[in-house]
Amino acid sequence: MRQYLIGALAASLISLTGVTFAQAYKPEALKRADPSLHLQRGSEQTEALKINDAIYQATGFGNTFMVVTDQGNVIIDTSLARTAPAHKKLLNAVSDAAIHSVIITHGHGDHTGGVELWKQADTQVIAQENMVAFLHYQKRLAGMFARRNQAQFGFELSDRITAATAAQNYAATILPNTLFDKKMQFVLGGKEFQILHTPAETYDALTVWMPQYRAAFVGDMLFQSFPNIYTLRGTKPRWALDYVSSIERIIKLQPEILLPSHGQPIMGGQNVLDTLTRYRDAILYVHDQTVIGMNQGKDVYTLMSEIELPETLDIGEGYGWVSWSVRGIYEGYVGWFDGNPVNMYNQSPQSVYPDLVDLAGGSKNVLNLAKEKLAAGDQVKSLRLADAAIAAEAGNREALQLRLQILTAMRKQSSNFNESGWLNSGILETKKQLKK
Ligand SMILES: [Zn+2]
Repeated sequence: MRQYLIGALAASLISLTGVTFAQAYKPEALKRADPSLHLQRGSEQTEALKINDAIYQATGFGNTFMVVTDQGNVIIDTSLARTAPAHKKLLNAVSDAAIHSVIITHGHGDHTGGVELWKQADTQVIAQENMVAFLHYQKRLAGMFARRNQAQFGFELSDRITAATAAQNYAATILPNTLFDKKMQFVLGGKEFQILHTPAETYDALTVWMPQYRAAFVGDMLFQSFPNIYTLRGTKPRWALDYVSSIERIIKLQPEILLPSHGQPIMGGQNVLDTLTRYRDAILYVHDQTVIGMNQGKDVYTLMSEIELPETLDIGEGYGWVSWSVRGIYEGYVGWFDGNPVNMYNQSPQSVYPDLVDLAGGSKNVLNLAKEKLAAGDQVKSLRLADAAIAAEAGNREALQLRLQILTAMRKQSSNFNESGWLNSGILETKKQLKK
C-alpha cells in the first residue's frame, strides 16, 4: 500500500533541488528532498510554464498562476514569501500589465506569501470570507505552528507569523480586501472568472473556474498522493465529506485543465475526470470504513492498522498517510476520549514508564529488549522502549543513541514527505540531547 509515489509537493521541491521530476518518483530522490535547500537557492525554473495562451504557472512550494487579459492580469495564489520574488520575475517576463486581482485559494502561508508583493493600489485581493477567522486562528497559535512547521517542513511556513507570547485573538493581518460567501464572479478582458467556495483542506478553500478554458484552479484540493485529512503539524479537523462534495462540484463542471497549487497541471477531460473520481472515491472509502469501524466499537489504533486503500483506489501515500487520516476522521467526529476510564485523568500513559523500567530491573534490561525488538523488525516498539528508558533516566546516553539509530533507520526507509520531516526533527532533537 505504501507506494513509492511521492506527493506533488515533494516532487515540486525536488525538481527545484536539481533532481528531475521523473527521479522524484523514486524513494531515493525523496530522501534528498530538503525544502530548506531550495529556499536558499531559489527556483531554478528559467521561464514560466505556459498552460495555454492566457494561463502561466511558476512552480514551487506553492505554485503561482497568472491569467493574462487585455485589461490587466489575475494572479491565483502567491507561494511562500521567500519564493514569491522569483515567481514574480518569471511571470512578469510574460506580462507586466497591471494586476487587477489576486485570488488566494486558502489562507496557508505557502499561498499567501506573495500577496503584498503582487498587490497594487487598485488590486482586489479576493478570498472566501472564512479566511478571516482562519488567519486569526493561525496567528493565535503562531508559536506552536512556527515550531511545528519547522519540524515538519524544515522551515517556517509563513514569514509573516512570528511567535506569539500570548493568545492574540484578533491580531492577524487580514490580507484580502474582497470577501465572498458561496460564489463571486467577474469578467476581465472578455475572460470570465467564477470563484467558488470549495472547502476541503481548509474551510476557506476556493476554486477558480474559467469556463471558456474549462480550467479549474483547485488550490490544495488535490495532491499527487492521498491528502492530509489530518496534518501532523496540527490542524482543526479537516472534513473528509467536505473534500468529497467539493470534488464532486468540480467534476460536474467537466474541467479539461486542472491546476493544483502543488505539482504539475493535469490535462485532458478524461484524465481530469479519472483523477478526480479516484481521489474522491479514495477519500470516501477511508471515511466510510472509519465510520463503519467506529460503529462496530473498534478503537482508533485498530482502524489505523486495518484500513488500507484497495488497489483500484491506491492514489499513493507520499504526502498524507491513510492511517493519519483514519485517526483524523475518528477524532474529528468524537474527539480525544477513547472510553477507557483511566484516560479521564491528567496523568499520561508515559507517567508510569519510570516505574515499569524500575520493575524491569533498570534501563539496561529495557534497552536490551528494545534491541531485540529492533532486530525483529519492530522499530516502533523499539522506539517506545527507548523512550521509556529516557523517561526513567533523562540523558541516558545508551538510550539516546539507540533512539538516534532507530529514527535514522526509519528516515532512511521513509517514502513519505511528512514522516521524513518528523523523523528528521526527532533526529536533530536527540543529537542535541546527546551533546549535553
Ligand atoms: Zn499548500
